[in-house]
Order: sequence, then C-alpha cells, then structure tokens
Amino acid sequence: MASTLAYLLLGSNLGDRAARLAQARHDLAATAGCLVAASDLYQTAAWGLEDQPAFLNQVLAIETELDAPSLLAACLAAEQQQGRERQVRWAARTLDVDILLFGNAVIHTTTLTVPHPALPARRFALTPLAEVAPQVVHPQLHRTIAQLLAACPDMLAVARVAS
Ligand code: AMP
Repeated sequence: MASTLAYLLLGSNLGDRAARLAQARHDLAATAGCLVAASDLYQTAAWGLEDQPAFLNQVLAIETELDAPSLLAACLAAEQQQGRERQVRWAARTLDVDILLFGNAVIHTTTLTVPHPALPARRFALTPLAEVAPQVVHPQLHRTIAQLLAACPDMLAVARVAS
C-alpha cells in the first residue's frame, strides 16, 4: 500500500508533560509508521478551560502505511496507554493526539474530520506545524501552513521550550 505523510499534534498538561510526549513518540513510531520529523516543544496556556496547567505541544510528521481510521485508532491507543480518560471537554489531559493532516486527504466521517477543523484557528497547532511543514498546502484552504500562521487570529502566546 502507498504510504502517506501525516502530521499529528501531541498535547499534554498533566504530570511530566515532556516525558509523556516522549512516550507518545515512542509508541506512535512503533504502531503508526516512520517518524520523519518532530518539532520542538511549545508551551501554551490552556485553551477553553483556562483554570488548569499550561499545555506542552509538539507536532510529529509520520510516514504511514495505515489508512486514516487505522491511524486514528493508533492515536487513541497512544492516549489510552497513558491513562487518558475523557470526562470534561477541554479538561486537563495526560495526552491528546490529533491528526492535523493526512496527506492531501479531506475526510468527513462521524469519527474523523481531516484536515483538523480547528487547525487554522489554533496558534498552538500552527506554530509547531509551521516549524516542520511551512510550505505544505492545506488541501481545503489552498494556503500554506506559514500563511495560515501569519493570518491566525488566536492571541494565546505559544513559547518554544528547550526539548
Ligand atoms: P478529543 O481528544 O477530545 O479532541 O476528541 C477525540 C475524538 O475526536 C476522537 O475519538 C475522534 O473520533 C474525533 N476526531 C475527529 N477528527 C479528529 C482528528 N482529526 N484527530 C483526532 N481525533 C479526531
């Protein structure tokens, strides 16, 4: 089967956040495909429910032979590996893994929307994605990730941290 270059966003705001992201990189490299790039780590104040610890985010580029639903299953398994429980929307989470882009695919099913619909409006996703894929073109908006970041209205500060 042909491989696809997918971009994933990792996020954690509970416990040893950097260790959780490292574990997620390790798990996804074993289950999802070949890790071809990883952004630096970025810290952002929590979005939505603001009375909680700041998030650490990272984007991974993964060359995968999985189809999109199977890649989503691998992402959810990586979350569950670290004890993620879904209770309150936007609540603190040990690990969150989102599919930002899956090649040029545009997918709308009950369980999966790709490109991730929040991508153009979230600086914490666009900033690390622009580090590893500035010239990649969003398949629906037909603008590069660098252009989307330059136009992003989200004012939450996103700070690069030593990785
Ligand atoms: P949450 O982790 O709270 O953001 O929600 C995860 C759920 O969103 C998953 O169980 C998926 O079914 C659904 N979902 C829809 N589109 C995506 C996407 N692009 N990446 C990850 N999860 C998605």
